[in-house]
Amino acid sequence: MSFKHFVRDSWLTASYYTGLSQVYNALAGQKRGVISYHNVLPVSELPPFDTYNVDVTAAVFDKQLTFLKKHFRVLPIQELENPNAKGIFLTVDDGMRNNYEILAPILEQHDLTALFAVCPAMIDGQLPHIWRDHLFLLLYAARGKEVFLPINDYLEPFRVPTDLSTIQDVQVFNNLTRRLKKYVYEHWISDVYNFIREICEKNDWSYRLISEDALRYHFMTWEQIQKLVQHGHQIASHTMTHRILRFLSEGEKQYEIVESKKRLENQLGIPIEILVYPYGGRSEIDTASVRIAAQAGYQMAFMNVRRDSLSHRNLTQPRFALPPITDAAHLHAIVSGYKFLFR
Ligand SMILES: [Zn+2]
Repeated sequence: MSFKHFVRDSWLTASYYTGLSQVYNALAGQKRGVISYHNVLPVSELPPFDTYNVDVTAAVFDKQLTFLKKHFRVLPIQELENPNAKGIFLTVDDGMRNNYEILAPILEQHDLTALFAVCPAMIDGQLPHIWRDHLFLLLYAARGKEVFLPINDYLEPFRVPTDLSTIQDVQVFNNLTRRLKKYVYEHWISDVYNFIREICEKNDWSYRLISEDALRYHFMTWEQIQKLVQHGHQIASHTMTHRILRFLSEGEKQYEIVESKKRLENQLGIPIEILVYPYGGRSEIDTASVRIAAQAGYQMAFMNVRRDSLSHRNLTQPRFALPPITDAAHLHAIVSGYKFLFR
């Protein structure tokens, strides 16, 4: 087993059996299946860091689209709001620059369209990065240094590994990013961007750290998003600033859910009828958030769950992600495995 596979192993085992089994259920029952992607990167191999399992290489994305088209009906995104439309839909979260420059051209080569979920405050440049990316980039920039972190109340510094060329170093690094993320969840931190500001102050770091990896860490421009619309893709709100909705006050939830819809509609001149909740698990989305989405006038909203909630079916729609399968042989092994399972 390669080093890279080892690092991703835990996610793979979990997602094979949820994602692919849903694809096959969708095929078997002619049901709906909504797949979520994030970043498609023009690299031959992904870095070994635990960047929350949201990246895939361009080659893998291309192969997955070929696979989906061969085995399923991938529907035009305009059909998504029709609850009776059966088939596979593609959605893309976060609105990073690669969505326009790498992902969309591959979609168009396959004659496919997708729903892009974007955060208007990020596009407007109010914040430099989504908070999880920001934490990752700060630690990455601090390679070889000692850093003070809230996970031990800033008492003792942690040493960030220097060159990250060994599996041990990568594990130490990934462990730090995971512990920071866990801290945010355990403390229900609503003001997570100020939390990052505090970490920067304690370490004498500049808050506006700008990554040179624009495709992965910069957001699409409004012009690029407008072009996606012209090419037949659709746009959803992904909230203003990608915070964890459950942790927010009523007013903050209103800002994230209602204002993002208005901002997108004003900028793009089209109705925004779909919300994609950030994170999207049941632990991150509470009933108040779903109620506000209904009051805001969203027609449909997507989580990352296997089943909708009966009381708010349209606003708790399920989605799933595919694992970053790295070669055709691996893909076909899984496919035949599932064919076996479902016969
Ligand atoms: Zn997201």
